[in-house]
Formats: sequence, structure tokens, C-alpha cells
Amino acid sequence: MCPRIVTRQEWKARNVTGHQLLWTRPVPYVVIHHGGILHYCYDIKECSLIVKSYQDPHIDTNKWIDIGYNFVIGEDGNIYEGRGWDFVGAHAPGFNTQSIGISIIGDYSHSNPNKNALRALTEIIKCGVLLNKISINYQVIGHRQARITACPGEVFYNYVQSMPRWTSTPVPVYVDANNYNYSNKSNNDSSLNNKIDEKN
Ligand SMILES: [Zn+2]
Repeated sequence: MCPRIVTRQEWKARNVTGHQLLWTRPVPYVVIHHGGILHYCYDIKECSLIVKSYQDPHIDTNKWIDIGYNFVIGEDGNIYEGRGWDFVGAHAPGFNTQSIGISIIGDYSHSNPNKNALRALTEIIKCGVLLNKISINYQVIGHRQARITACPGEVFYNYVQSMPRWTSTPVPVYVDANNYNYSNKSNNDSSLNNKIDEKN
């Protein structure tokens, strides 16, 4: 059973082009993020605005083609479609081409996401396996395992480490993923400098 996913049209995403297909599908990794800002939401209207507030700087400031994440989850328990199941994201250098990146709206340095959000996280991963978008042998990592960042927040990272598929030693299938020559050069994940995701 797959949960309902709030479509890009529903959250009023900007229309963009130029997505790259993931290098390997089903993907071997799920990368967990938090939004990194003290801004939370509890209904589809509020959460849609926040998802948009992630997409805008990813495009306008970071010069990425789209919101960096594959999916975004709100504490309303909804899952919002980012780049979706099939496309390379811009969220974790070295893993973008071979992972699904999921971000929970809010800052989880000092607390965990609520149970609605954590349930949605479990469901979307389960759904990805069912749809054969995520490998049955998938492994989970936190963003901080891919680059120096506080993401997904100290407290939430403890939760991530308790997830059954968490690995302490992720090994990208494609080790040269950082050097991938994106058609949109600035989308290269080695230049990742996500101000929202960055927790100073
Ligand atoms: Zn992150």
C-alpha cells in the first residue's frame, strides 16, 4: 500500500525541465534530511507554502533545476512530491544519482519529527520498495554522512541511526557520482551549498 502523495500541481510547484534519470533503479540508498529551519506545518496549505519556500531558493539562489529533494514530508503527515521517484536530486553529494532524498519540514536538532511525519517516512520508503523504485536491500543514511552538515539534526539523526536499514558505512555504487557532468552544470552536487539545509 502506497500513501497518497501531494502532487507538484497541488503544492503549486514551479514547472521545471532538465531532470536526469537516476543512474540505477531501484536505488540502493535512502538519504534522510530535515529542512533545517524552525518553520513547521500541520496542514496541507501551510506545508505546501513551506515546500514552495524550499523550491524557490533551490532554483533562484542555488541555481539548481528544481527543489533538491525527491520527497518532502510535513508534520501534517503528508508526503509532497519533489523530484519524485525517477530523477536525480540535489541533496547529498556522492549519493544523488543513486538515492531517494527525503526531507522532513522543520529543524530536528532538539526534537524528533512528530509521529505523523515519522509514519509517513516509514510508509514512503515501504512504498518505494513495493514500486521497485527503492531496492529491497536498500540502506538508509543521514545527510551528514555524505557531507559536513548538521542535517538531519542531532536528535533526529539518533532516530535515523535506529532505523533498521541504517548503515554506518555507506559505499556509493558509482564512486564518481560527484563528477557527473550535469547538463545544468550548477546542479552538480559537489557544489552543494544548500542554505536551507545548512545548519550553522
Ligand atoms: Zn540535508
